[in-house]
Amino acid sequence: MQKENGIDVEFDLRHIWHPYTSTITPLPCYPVTSAKGVYLTLEDGTQLIDGMSSWWSAIHGYNHPQLTTAAKTQLDKMSHVMFGGITHQPAVELCKKLVAITPQDLDTVFLADSGSVAVEVALKMALQYWHAKGEYRSSFLTLRHGYHGDTFAAMSVTDPDNSMHSIYKGFLPKHIFANSPQCGFWDEWNEDDISDFSEKLAQNHQQIAAVILEPIVQGAGGMQLYHPTYLRRVRELCDDYGVLFIADEIAVGFGRTGKLFACEHANVSPDIMCVGKALTGGYMTLSATITRKYIADTVCSGEAGCFMHGPTFMGNPLACAVANKNLEILEQNQWQQQVANIEKQLAVELPRIATLNKVKQVRWLGAIGVVELHQPVNMAEIQQAFVNAGVWIRPFGRLIYIMPPYIITSAQLSCLTQAIYQVLKR
Ligand code: PMP
Repeated sequence: MQKENGIDVEFDLRHIWHPYTSTITPLPCYPVTSAKGVYLTLEDGTQLIDGMSSWWSAIHGYNHPQLTTAAKTQLDKMSHVMFGGITHQPAVELCKKLVAITPQDLDTVFLADSGSVAVEVALKMALQYWHAKGEYRSSFLTLRHGYHGDTFAAMSVTDPDNSMHSIYKGFLPKHIFANSPQCGFWDEWNEDDISDFSEKLAQNHQQIAAVILEPIVQGAGGMQLYHPTYLRRVRELCDDYGVLFIADEIAVGFGRTGKLFACEHANVSPDIMCVGKALTGGYMTLSATITRKYIADTVCSGEAGCFMHGPTFMGNPLACAVANKNLEILEQNQWQQQVANIEKQLAVELPRIATLNKVKQVRWLGAIGVVELHQPVNMAEIQQAFVNAGVWIRPFGRLIYIMPPYIITSAQLSCLTQAIYQVLKR
């Protein structure tokens, strides 16, 4: 029964489709009424320590006073205006910042409204680039166990055999998939790791418009943390064969791995980079695809005369204003120290979890902790156990992983790791 003025969860279960859930056997849904700092408050007053940062995004925690003020201030001026033929201060300020902080030579920004769209934009840029140069290149080279979003082009570069998109396999354009890296971030580098990628690039380079991959962390495809040398070799091979290199930093950008951008672990600069998620500290939906001016100019020198993309909510002023404040806070908060502290603590606390016999492996990097199990979990059951333990962790298949807000205290982080230990022990 719905409580008076309460959230109608019954209606929700009957009529609302949540991400990756069945309408026939819907998973339980927890009604959240507010969120502050690292805490989510459920309707019954239960407070949960958030281990997910709302899927990588709420890096400074929820209801941050400065982000809230930035949104309110901008709301009084202008909430939205079309970006065709019009510009505004929040967008210009944000793009200046992005050009300044992203890897070398990325100096031309295309704003969009979600991570998946940023990926669509990147892929379309690459296709138009080669078209303008008079070469018909229609393939992308990417990695097994990769993930790049839920829209069509993004799905087509997401591993068709090892992902939630397998059902669409027959409808998607076929691209080229190289074996995913096996060398972990902390392992010794093994040159054989790059051989399949290298061979596939050598065999097909004349038809490949771009390589696309998630730098250092393969996220939704298995939370694998791979060796920086793999990334460095990819950059070198793309240069050798004259193929564009797209880095999808949507999950890991803005400090999550201990570097501002994960590409920095390998000291490489991609030709096109996608960012989203933490760009607004999880407040608003905004993404960006950033490239080099010569690539943008080449795209525009072609038959079309411009880049053929223009989302209605491109450069939304509210989202840009919040993103500007978010990047300011990132600097003020000394994110490097925050993330380094989280990494240090995970390095101590996760190995204890690894002693449980259900656990296959634990791994960590920056503010990311992963517990891989031998068997998939019962999602509803384990979710409830975590809620009972006072934490918000959303397991996926055989993976229990955390990527908490950077502001999490050591005691709060211990609550997360202890909850994982206790729940798995039971
Ligand atoms: N790329 C990566 C690496 C992601 O992790 C995600 C989201 N999980 C996306 C793209 C898609 O972003 P969005 O959900 O904002 O469309």
